[in-house]
Amino acid sequence: MSSQKHWRKLLIEERRHVDPAVVDVLREIVGPEHLREHEPLSGLTTWRTGGPADVVVRVPDLDALSKVQQVIASNRIPSVVLGRGSNVLVQDGGFRGVVITLGPKFSGIDVEPLGDSDRIHVGAATPLGQLIKAARQHGWRSLAPLGGTPGTVGGALRMNAGDRHTWIGQFVESVDIVKRDGKLTTVPVERIGYGYRHSQFPPGSVIVSGILQVERDDPSLARQAIDEHIARRKATQPLNLPSCGSVFRNPENGSAGELIERAGLKGVRLHAAQISEQHANFIVNLGGATARDILALIRLARQKVYEETGIRLEEEVRIIGDPAEEHDDED
Ligand SMILES: Cc1cc2nc3c(=O)[nH]c(=O)nc-3n(C[C@H](O)[C@H](O)[C@H](O)COP(=O)(O)OP(=O)(O)OC[C@H]3O[C@@H](n4cnc5c(N)ncnc54)[C@H](O)[C@@H]3O)c2cc1C
Repeated sequence: MSSQKHWRKLLIEERRHVDPAVVDVLREIVGPEHLREHEPLSGLTTWRTGGPADVVVRVPDLDALSKVQQVIASNRIPSVVLGRGSNVLVQDGGFRGVVITLGPKFSGIDVEPLGDSDRIHVGAATPLGQLIKAARQHGWRSLAPLGGTPGTVGGALRMNAGDRHTWIGQFVESVDIVKRDGKLTTVPVERIGYGYRHSQFPPGSVIVSGILQVERDDPSLARQAIDEHIARRKATQPLNLPSCGSVFRNPENGSAGELIERAGLKGVRLHAAQISEQHANFIVNLGGATARDILALIRLARQKVYEETGIRLEEEVRIIGDPAEEHDDED
């Protein structure tokens, strides 16, 4: 091992938060094939940035999730859940703690007809694309604004994904979560406080499934609405490059993209990160961008828009982990 690599390994060991004995307990719970140490998070996010997490677990079932939550809580280990990683910026220093992802048992859709609507039981690991496929078949036209969104249902329920006026929370009846104490709890929609890209769940809880209620329409109308939505996306968004979608929430009565464009920042580039030439609320990774460069562009957009309009843009994207330490840049 080169001295640089050796030094880097020592640094990682020094900064780790998860005790090796706890890692063994987690490994026992989820099975050795579902636990990885020092896993680069760039592979788990659509922006393709981010340093390693101490531990990534893929929990196979509810029982394992409940136990993992209890171990994390009793050892006071920082944790974060990742779905498709399509709305997060993981910093270059990675995440000191446990990243929880959900295995295939948390995926699936069950439909219960209810008069003119359907009650949809959907697992948190279900890709939104699968929900939209079902929407085309069953005629759930009102879900069209979710068409083409790359995340999972769990991420969508947490972020309240959708467009400006329609979001998933409007169709939610209840959401099942596993809290930090390991208990499975049903949260009725009134207690989630859904608003534009906003939800409130107990800190550290993991969403495992949700129940939605959606009106049934003519499937051909649903297909048309979904196709139109996806076509609009393709025409206006840089979908050929890694991104997290919209970086900023739209301010009241305004468009974050338009404000950034008016500030003259469309196309501005820092190394391999660029404010998209196509849609100024997207920052794209041209290949090898660091989270540090992306964050610098985020700050630049926020500052310029504030100077020119007095409007303070707020990030929609979740920023996770630590910045890289200086020595990390040496190799
Ligand atoms: C090209 C592109 C287009 C996009 N278009 C849209 C759009 O039109 N509308 C929109 O709203 N978003 C859009 N997004 C953003 C993103 O796809 C959505 O927010 C999506 O719902 C995030 O889901 P995810 O599984 O990727 O969540 P992640 O990015 O993995 O996580 C997002 C947040 O949710 C939390 N989380 C994830 N899963 C769980 C869980 N099971 N339990 C508890 N917390 C959880 C994470 O900890 C994190 O805080 C777009 C992204 C891209 C890349």
